[in-house]
Amino acid sequence: MAYLIGLDAVVEIVQHSPMQNLSGFIGLVAFTGIFYGVFALFREQACIAVCPYGRLQGVLLVKESIVVAYDWLRGEPRNKIKKGIEETEKKGDCIDCKLCVHVCPTGIDIRNGTQLECVNCTACMDACDDVMIKVNRPKGLIRYASFNSIKEGKEKLFTPRIAGYTVVLTALIGLLSFFVFTRADIETTVLKVPGTLYSRTDDGQITNLYNIEFVNKTFEDISIDLKIEEPVGASLMKVGGQPLLVPSEGILKSTFMVKIPEDQLTVMRTKVQFSVFKGEERIESMSARFIGPIVKKQTP
Ligand code: SF4
Ligand code: SF4
Repeated sequence: MAYLIGLDAVVEIVQHSPMQNLSGFIGLVAFTGIFYGVFALFREQACIAVCPYGRLQGVLLVKESIVVAYDWLRGEPRNKIKKGIEETEKKGDCIDCKLCVHVCPTGIDIRNGTQLECVNCTACMDACDDVMIKVNRPKGLIRYASFNSIKEGKEKLFTPRIAGYTVVLTALIGLLSFFVFTRADIETTVLKVPGTLYSRTDDGQITNLYNIEFVNKTFEDISIDLKIEEPVGASLMKVGGQPLLVPSEGILKSTFMVKIPEDQLTVMRTKVQFSVFKGEERIESMSARFIGPIVKKQTP
């Protein structure tokens, strides 16, 4: 719930009776029940059958991908240890104790190869390492490795696919950084009031009505000013007299009327450029279309 509505709002809500926030309370109880059911009963089925993440990972895997893998060259043929019996022939390091299978939360046998059900929890790695210590063999029979590195004996880390992913990741980080650092404190959306065209005033001006929404992305209330930059003769009038104070992390919705003298309109749709100011600083600019009457072309 804190993820959806913010921690402050949750702290505020839990200090009141559930009856005052009945829908939120019911939602929370329902989600708690669902998550209890998932953890207590549904368990690994959520990873195997519901979660799309594992399926997506499977699509991206190649033989160079580093995954939790069983070293079949070292482990096979499996060799059950029997107390008091000396080994005469060289066998693999896996003693077939099946501990790796017992600890696996999705119930798979990693010795059969990489499987879609594996959630990379590494429980089998730890269990097998403990077994290897007890039987005096090197750890890492199940370890992070790629199929090819086990087969060829050497790990190739920088493959063409890794190079491609690096380029994509770098581009995405660059894009994210650009959006974070160029983010305006206020995000403004200007839309014409639905169902309206234009009106003509007695003094020969054409007017359009706009709904304007300001979203404050900061933790402080911000007092702003809205101005028209273009066209030069246009004027702006707020419908309703409240000051433009956008609450912290909140939204302010207002309606504005834009007036342009009819003789300045040369086309039916004129671009109007708005700017939002915080004190003297221009923090955002945006444009909208101004609808006027059909302009008749003058014949020479
Ligand atoms: S835990 Fe290790 S030794 Fe035991 S069965 Fe699994 S791979 Fe073999
Ligand atoms: S990493 Fe976890 S899910 Fe994957 S095989 Fe090992 S124990 Fe099972």
